[in-house]
Amino acid sequence: TKASTPIGRFAPSPTGELHLGSLTTALASYCHIKSLGGTWLLRMEDTDITRCDRQFSEQILLDLEALALFWDGDVIYQSERTDIYNDYLATHLAPLTYACACSRKQLNADWDAQAQQVNVNDSSLRQALDNRQRYPRCCLNAHLNKNAHKLRLQMPDTLIGFADGIQGNCWQNPQQTVGDMVVRREDGTINYILAASIDDGLQGVTHVMRGLDILPLTSAQISVMHAARVPAISHWYHLPLICHDNGQKLSKQNLAQPIDTRDPSRLLKYAFALLQQPDIDIDTPERMLAQAVSQWCQQPLVGQQVLHVPTLP
Ligand code: GLU
Repeated sequence: TKASTPIGRFAPSPTGELHLGSLTTALASYCHIKSLGGTWLLRMEDTDITRCDRQFSEQILLDLEALALFWDGDVIYQSERTDIYNDYLATHLAPLTYACACSRKQLNADWDAQAQQVNVNDSSLRQALDNRQRYPRCCLNAHLNKNAHKLRLQMPDTLIGFADGIQGNCWQNPQQTVGDMVVRREDGTINYILAASIDDGLQGVTHVMRGLDILPLTSAQISVMHAARVPAISHWYHLPLICHDNGQKLSKQNLAQPIDTRDPSRLLKYAFALLQQPDIDIDTPERMLAQAVSQWCQQPLVGQQVLHVPTLP
């Protein structure tokens, strides 16, 4: 077999416009994969139609173009690929799926009762893990009709290790981090990890560079990809989160400003400084990106969990 080119991707959820956090993820994954001579794909993770909007995905495309962040090949829209995910659920993944009739209310009551027993330390990552409550497997052996209820996927109760090029070696037990997650809701909506895992596999993605907020889901993704028998990701990188000086993560929830691409060169200069890249002169976006690719270096990010935004641009 001939050596294949590295394949990276940017996979935004179009629930809003790009903000500084998603922009730095796009930039870093672009520069990194291009510095390896690789391909950079763009995938819209819009399975949740209640939260995603075509207007946002169109704006994301315009913003990326304004910054000269040109993707390779056609954009993939997960909302158009439901049949593919359902095929996997009906074939390779079928032995691991089960229908679940538990209500949110019922589960919350159970979790409240358990909460007292959990020993929580105060790091933000730990908090992210604990917020993602695990399902106590009440319906595992109930053999309910898979087409009449939401569908869960059994997660292995074993440690999975992976090397992260920024965060170091990680060990996670997917049964403890995510538990048996809902992979398809009653209304047919496909869960993000399922769709991302299958698409990363089918698109031949080798290098995933994304935000640290998704690190707790990585062993679940590795498990899904393995069970679905799609090619595995060989290189993981979880970028530090962009935070305000007060420590809050930038997100749509706390009203991160959409990026303003009317002065793309200045925005690129700011974002590269945030990513602690060697200084890049103001020039056309194309030339700034070419320079950033040629001198790309993730070393300054290694071991970092947070990048602080001193002042908003
Ligand atoms: N769609 C996810 C997000 O916007 C990113 C998923 C990924 O890169 O794997 O947060």
